[in-house]
Amino acid sequence: MPRTLTDGIEWIQGCIPRPGLTTDYVADPPDWYEPEREVHTCQNAYLVTGERTLLFDTLSPANREHVLEELDVALDGRDLDYLVVSHPEAPHAGNAFAILERHPEATLVAPAHGNEHELYHLGDAEQVAPGDTIDLGGREVEFLQPLFLDHAMHIWMRETTTGTFFPVDWLGFPHMDGECLTVVEELDHEVTVDQLLAFHGRVFFWYQYADVQKTNGVVEELADRYASDVVAPAHGLPITADAGAFIERMTAIVEHVSERGRLDVFG
Ligand SMILES: [Zn+2]
Ligand SMILES: [Zn+2]
Repeated sequence: MPRTLTDGIEWIQGCIPRPGLTTDYVADPPDWYEPEREVHTCQNAYLVTGERTLLFDTLSPANREHVLEELDVALDGRDLDYLVVSHPEAPHAGNAFAILERHPEATLVAPAHGNEHELYHLGDAEQVAPGDTIDLGGREVEFLQPLFLDHAMHIWMRETTTGTFFPVDWLGFPHMDGECLTVVEELDHEVTVDQLLAFHGRVFFWYQYADVQKTNGVVEELADRYASDVVAPAHGLPITADAGAFIERMTAIVEHVSERGRLDVFG
């Protein structure tokens, strides 16, 4: 079942158990790992509902039936008006056409950046650039310049009524079985730098080439800007309290990856 994250925003999660990771962690447990638990990575999609509805991301093809069913529950009989894909990668866009087949009334929305739309069959999509908004009736989403990304054709989003920030791949981290559809605030442990590193050390390996001071200046700025937002990442558990302090932890990640390079454990 989807979970209501905040007023008008439903959270759809697809978990992927990682037996390989679990084996590594049993042998050499990091500070956040609890014995006898299985490690999950996840993909999240979010349905924003005003007078009109908007789905942000699609989960991967392996989760196709799951996302179609969950979306039906979240829509609760309403039409889907917009399907936004943050970037053309399987966990984010892999079910776009299956969802459009089920909901032919929906408008496909893709990032305007780049000229590879035909390559990804997104040529007919409505394109959005940073600063563009979609009025959902009593609720609005704004598209943002993505600052930490893994693919050039990419967009971040924010729902301005509740103040919910969707940073896509940034701020992801693995969780353990039993913690699915749980928000950070409800966990019985902190999400440590090590736990964040397990994800960012691989996906954001370009931090090793980044200017640490400059990059962390941007992290601090984002921590300030979204300090009281709900943060809804694509591969982590949402942050519903004290987002500023959480985001600030990312400065340690930038330093770590810059000093020690790419992390290869996240297979
Ligand atoms: Zn991703
Ligand atoms: Zn899970």
